[in-house]
Amino acid sequence: MTRLEDRRDRLPEDLTCVRCLEIKPTTELDRLLWCEGCLASARRRASAKGWIAGGALLGVLALYVFVWIQPDLSLIPTAWIMMLLVAFYLGSRVAREFAFAWDRMRNRRAVEAAPPTVDARGDAEPDAGSTWD
Ligand SMILES: [Zn+2]
Repeated sequence: MTRLEDRRDRLPEDLTCVRCLEIKPTTELDRLLWCEGCLASARRRASAKGWIAGGALLGVLALYVFVWIQPDLSLIPTAWIMMLLVAFYLGSRVAREFAFAWDRMRNRRAVEAAPPTVDARGDAEPDAGSTWD
């Protein structure tokens, strides 16, 4: 028996995901007790922030190149454009990793938890109006 199986045997079968408060099997949660869905949505959010940061870097760099450096675009225009595109791609990748790591490090509880909907509450409570009609 491996050490991993030892650890799993001692844990309860189901645990609550700290992000969405849904009860999941222990095997579907990671070491911070995040489920797959919460991990995926955190990655999506980090990715969106990454593209925005990459776009901001691209804008600032393009301004710097064309306003401050003012290169002779008749020589090698593709090199300048490639440089800007590489900065955009790498900047967004780095920003995405930082955003995801920040989200994991803060580990805010119940961020993804959905409050009960009106329909769910309506089913749970008896409809007082209709019983008296
Ligand atoms: Zn979750």
